[in-house]
Amino acid sequence: MNHRSFVSLLRKILSTPTAPFHEYAVAAVIRELLAPLPHVTVTADAFGNLIATYRRGKKKPSLAFAAHMDHPGWVRHAGKEEFLGGVPADRLDSHAVEWFGEFGMWELTPFSLKDGLVHSRVCDDLVGCAAIVAMFRELEEKEAEATVYGLFTRAEEVGFIGAIELAKTWPLPDGVCFVSLETSAPRGGAEQGKGPVIRVGDRMSVFHDGVTAELLDAAAGEKIGHQRALLDGGSCEATAMNLWGIPAAGISVLLGNYHNCPPESGIAAEFVSLDDVKNLVKLITATAIRTARRKTGDSSKAQLKTRLEKRVRDHRKYERAAAKHWVK
Ligand SMILES: [Zn+2]
Repeated sequence: MNHRSFVSLLRKILSTPTAPFHEYAVAAVIRELLAPLPHVTVTADAFGNLIATYRRGKKKPSLAFAAHMDHPGWVRHAGKEEFLGGVPADRLDSHAVEWFGEFGMWELTPFSLKDGLVHSRVCDDLVGCAAIVAMFRELEEKEAEATVYGLFTRAEEVGFIGAIELAKTWPLPDGVCFVSLETSAPRGGAEQGKGPVIRVGDRMSVFHDGVTAELLDAAAGEKIGHQRALLDGGSCEATAMNLWGIPAAGISVLLGNYHNCPPESGIAAEFVSLDDVKNLVKLITATAIRTARRKTGDSSKAQLKTRLEKRVRDHRKYERAAAKHWVK
């Protein structure tokens, strides 16, 4: 996808208003953007999480990329205005709110692109949603033979509610790994602008070793800018999936002004590096294609095991030579 159509896709999704439990406008935009893609079908589970499937050919699925459609925001509930999501209480009355019927967002720029940075009232996690839509477009353009899922979840900001509903009635084949696409505050030496972060884990759990290796492999093989780190500033939906027994991994685009909170005080737009987001799309597209092509035993982990086994064999002569010193 060229720069211009990618930016317009980002603009369209990031400009859509959302709040926990009020993700319907985002869901409608995602459905509208996926509708023209001939190999993508979209359904919803009983809770309203969207399940998109790209299927071309007969390849077995192994990956589901997931992003949440909500963002911390205001809701009208039982005659009162309440804030849902993680923002310090002393900032809640410091900024004007724009209402969209039953929910409200901070009055901030919906979208602007300046000096390679995307500023928006909601990057977390509409950036992840946009990356999945862009991946589906890329797979169509490349006529890739693969089966890959995109999951768009609800109400993550109040405790992974959509993801837990999804995990409880897991609608995908056994063995499919849930790969959380998030935006996160920089931690563990990772820096904005140096590529998406392949996460070793989050604040609460560590992630699936094999799938993390696949992601790192694809990034190295296709020379896609990326970082590897433990982002333990927060937890993401992969932790919820782990708890419910679904294998899970995670990637994050580093976020400035996490949850609209600038370092000192007040409320401001979040921002991400456009290049980081483009590299995220490249990374998930390449991983989807490579895992679909790969035969069993061909994975980077299987190759590493073969190399280590050879090393054991190669050093046997030294072991034999030293054997006489070992008392049996
Ligand atoms: Zn998030």
